[in-house]
Amino acid sequence: MQSRSAEERREDLVKLYREAAACERCPLHMTRTKVVFGSGNADADLMFVGEAPGQHEDLQGLPFVGRAGRLLEQLLEEIGLERGDVFIANVLQSRPPGNRDPQPDEIDACKPFLHRKIELIEPKVICTLGNFATKLITRSQRGITGVHGRPQVHELGGRTVRVYPLFHPAAALRSTNTLGELRADFARLPALLEEPPPVPLGAVAAVAAAAQAAPEPPQMDLFGS
Ligand code: URA
Repeated sequence: MQSRSAEERREDLVKLYREAAACERCPLHMTRTKVVFGSGNADADLMFVGEAPGQHEDLQGLPFVGRAGRLLEQLLEEIGLERGDVFIANVLQSRPPGNRDPQPDEIDACKPFLHRKIELIEPKVICTLGNFATKLITRSQRGITGVHGRPQVHELGGRTVRVYPLFHPAAALRSTNTLGELRADFARLPALLEEPPPVPLGAVAAVAAAAQAAPEPPQMDLFGS
C-alpha cells in the first residue's frame, strides 16, 4: 500500500501529540510535570524506544535529555548521525514517581500511542533500548541480555519493520562491559539501515505453506531396475 506523504503523517503526529498532552488514561498524569511524547525527525528511518521519562525529561517534556541521553547522542555521533536525524520515544510518556519501573497497566494505557507513532513515522529500523521496550515491541519475554545486537523482523504499525534490541544507555553508564557491547551493536546500525526492506512475514508464511503443499519430488531410483 502506498504510504501517505511525510507532510500528512507529520500533521497527524502533531494531532497525536495534542492527544497525549491531555491524556489521563493512567494515574501517572496526576504526578507528571510534562508529557514526554518523543522528539526528532517525524520521517526518520531510525527510531529509538526507551523506557520512561526521568526527572529531567519530565521537567523539559523531551526524551533522553539527562546523562543517558548524552550517551545516546555520543553513540549516534560515532556512527555519523545526530539527534535530529532520528525519532526518540519511550514506552511510557509520563514519568513514574521516583523512576520506578513502569507498571503493566501504565504500559497498556500508553501502548496505543507508541504503535501509532511507529505507524506515522514509518521507520526502517526500531532500536529498543533495554528490557521494557524490547519485551513490548518484540511481544516476547526474552530479556535484553539474550537478544541485544540481533535484528528481528516484526509487523508493526501495518508494516514489516526490523527491530534491533540494544542495551539501555543508563545500563551502559553503570558498566563498562555493557558500554562496550552497546557501542559494538551501534557500529552495526549503519549497515542495517542500508539493508533492503524485510520481506513481509505474511509472504514468508505463504511461501512456506506453498512449499509444504507441493507434491514430493519423485524418489531417485537408487538401485536401477
Ligand atoms: N531513560 C529512558 O528510558 N527514557 C528517557 O527519556 C530518559 C531516560
